[in-house]
Amino acid sequence: MEKVSYHTHTTISDGKLTPRELVEAAISRGYKVLAITDHYTTPEGVNSSGWGNDFYTDEDYLELRKLQEEYKGKIKILVGVEFEWYLGREDWLFQEVQKRDYDIKLISVHQIVVDSKRFTINSSKEAFEGALLGFGGEIKKVVSVYYETLREAVGTGWYDLVAHFDLIKVYNEDSKYFDESEEWYRKEVIRTLKVIKEMGIKMEVNLGGLIRPCREQYPSRWIIDKAKEMGIEFLVGTDAHKEPQLDYDVNEVSELIG
Ligand SMILES: [Zn+2]
Ligand SMILES: [Zn+2]
Repeated sequence: MEKVSYHTHTTISDGKLTPRELVEAAISRGYKVLAITDHYTTPEGVNSSGWGNDFYTDEDYLELRKLQEEYKGKIKILVGVEFEWYLGREDWLFQEVQKRDYDIKLISVHQIVVDSKRFTINSSKEAFEGALLGFGGEIKKVVSVYYETLREAVGTGWYDLVAHFDLIKVYNEDSKYFDESEEWYRKEVIRTLKVIKEMGIKMEVNLGGLIRPCREQYPSRWIIDKAKEMGIEFLVGTDAHKEPQLDYDVNEVSELIG
């Protein structure tokens, strides 16, 4: 397997390296493919826990296209984007997703809405528990709203790659909140995989989870196996926001997605 990442961030959104620094860091590590997939800007009136409405301007996009050209022959750069799904903002999303021609479009759910309040489930344990509290402490509800939101996003068919499929497990170390082997959880997952399969889009093995409390890639091994069984294809994403996060063991990952 070649060294690749289909999911990375730069100073265009919340990453630490400039696009050029990221490209250089990837080249020095022997990367063959690098997709730069910064977070897209947030819609007006939405408070996205620190995510700016100044993310990913037209100038940023043009800069990436220039870098892509400049580094041709050294590394394959894909000009990508990571979109968030904003419930109730479908018109805005539809308009924005078509505005530019990307090489790859990621879709993610980081936020769930409870009583019109928005919680970024992976930003902190407090935020996660805030969402849980909003649902009266019912973890099943939190999880099912998460997957329902993801299904709605994926079902539009607007995107190419589902990022960190089971992000909802980020604080679920030692099955603290739910047990993935329970029937209700497996059902949510499989329903969502079916939509991904139907839409013919790919899934990401996201290595960002390895440095989060869950200490595991997204998605879990059994989900990868199930998805592969269904004929869903995988791409590797480091979700690197800093230089060291570009490092990973190619053999370990290739064992996962075979
Ligand atoms: Zn993400
Ligand atoms: Zn990301």
